Amino acid sequence: MPIADRDLGRILYVDLTRKKQWTEDRLDLFEKYLGGTGVATRLLLEELPRNADPLGPDNVIVFAIGVMTAMYPTASKTVAMFRSPLTGNLGESHAGGRSAVAMRMAGLGAVVIKGASKTPIYLSIKNGKAEFKDATALWGVRSTYTVGRVLREREPWPGTRSIMRIGRAGERLVRYAGVVTETYRHFGRLGLGAVMGAKKLKAIVIGGRRRIKLAEPKKYKEIYKELYDKAVKTPLMRKYHDLGTPANILFLNKIGAFPTRNLTSSRFEDAHRISGEHMAETRLARRVACSHCPVACIHIASIRQEYPHEKYFYTTRYVSYDYEPTYSLGSMLGIGDEEGLLRLIEEVEVQGLDAISTGVVLAWATEAYIRGLVSGRDTIVQPSWGDWETYIEMVRLIVDQPNEFYKTLALGSEEAARKYGGIDFAMAFGRNEMPGYHVGPATHLGYLIGARHSHLDNAGYSYDEKKLKENEYPPPEKVVDDLMEEEAWRQILSSLVICFFARGIYKPGIVAEALKPLGVRMSEEEILKLGWRIYSEKYRLKFELGFRIEDLRIPRRIYETLTPHGMIREEYMEEALSYFKERIAEIIGQNIPSPKPQV
Ligand code: SF4
Repeated sequence: MPIADRDLGRILYVDLTRKKQWTEDRLDLFEKYLGGTGVATRLLLEELPRNADPLGPDNVIVFAIGVMTAMYPTASKTVAMFRSPLTGNLGESHAGGRSAVAMRMAGLGAVVIKGASKTPIYLSIKNGKAEFKDATALWGVRSTYTVGRVLREREPWPGTRSIMRIGRAGERLVRYAGVVTETYRHFGRLGLGAVMGAKKLKAIVIGGRRRIKLAEPKKYKEIYKELYDKAVKTPLMRKYHDLGTPANILFLNKIGAFPTRNLTSSRFEDAHRISGEHMAETRLARRVACSHCPVACIHIASIRQEYPHEKYFYTTRYVSYDYEPTYSLGSMLGIGDEEGLLRLIEEVEVQGLDAISTGVVLAWATEAYIRGLVSGRDTIVQPSWGDWETYIEMVRLIVDQPNEFYKTLALGSEEAARKYGGIDFAMAFGRNEMPGYHVGPATHLGYLIGARHSHLDNAGYSYDEKKLKENEYPPPEKVVDDLMEEEAWRQILSSLVICFFARGIYKPGIVAEALKPLGVRMSEEEILKLGWRIYSEKYRLKFELGFRIEDLRIPRRIYETLTPHGMIREEYMEEALSYFKERIAEIIGQNIPSPKPQV
């Protein structure tokens, strides 16, 4: 049975150089790969020249949604894939907000952006058709919040609409600039903001209004209710609603897995002050949700500031806080002052930077300064752990790039350490700055072998958390096999494109059932095999773009700081990587393993 909603197969191609657009019907791709990551990988394999400069016109950006988008709770994300200017390799970033539902309402399954404009523009994509609009007046505007407000007024359409925009960081090609969508959500990782900046593409406004066809409406209602009830009436997603992702902070700190001061420690003495509990008690203003999500995990804090010369006059601003920014801009920089942390997160939002990379880059810079590898002439200000006001200055300097040092910081921690020294404590894996977990070997292996070098690829940190309950830690081969299996399964979630926080709900059995009313008939086994196929194709593209396992660097710092599993051994990690090298070669050789049934 084919996908009932045939509009999903419509792909909009936009050429920014020639200001041309066309659509192609590629329902075949969505029927084969379900959408999202699977379709975006395929489109990049077709469209991306393997020698494309990440910041040149040849780079291609694909935004894709999946067959479940706007149909089921938490199927709320859009996948963006591109060549990353931070790693030089495959870039993949997921964002929620309204982006996914807006694309579906626009009658599109994917948007492919090629070429580069000479002057700043933004794309207004309404009901599947793009208009190229002048963005000269928006270029250089200080805050992404302001850009969002202006575009909301300029593009007042009915229906669902999403505004994805870059900040000054993207314009100035900071290699870890992100894209802000709906103010509180982001395509954060791997530098999509810089790719858009290089294309002089300031923003994309997308949306429309339409109905989605179903193959079996009655069955759809039943499955929808089952998934909805699991999301809101069981404990599966409760913590995300109550405290949001910062719910993890106290636990990770207690077990000694919370990276602090550039991972010189795995416990932070002020963790309680930036914990989800404390933030909820003292700062939480409201919770918001991505479209079609009943969970509302996005926690918004308020910052109240007095006007400088007016007594009893205050301004109140709102900032979203999650686990990762709390780690990277909090504990990693020794910041335990919640007001200071929120102000720093706000500046990172204003400039349009990826919060994880920014914090880790600043942590490297602080340690390099303390150790005398760089001087006050380089840093202009004097970074020191916990000094959030200085870090706000440094965020601005990274974007402004007034000297060689800040120009280099804008390239990422790996590049900075190669130039100034301190490579052993440049906390990047595959050149991507590390997420906030130091739980054990699988955590860091996960960063190394994940196709995005992200904790979200295969959740090695969660694997390590579970292994704390067991007496013996598995051998490296077993860990690699397990992480690869998890990553293969996550290709299905990323193709559908389900929020990973709902992974406890969307197991293969229910996914197979939920696909039927949409017109897709696949057995559990076929779904699991498809996950392996997408994983294999993604890695094939990664290798074609120049990735080499031999080039993966393991920062020495991970061997020097205690984890809840004890000290990580170098030999263990090396054995694991050499085993991974064999296994991935097999997988790319299409030796897709028989999937194991999931529980
Ligand atoms: S759980 Fe949170 S991030 Fe996930 S879809 Fe819902 S609101 Fe968005």
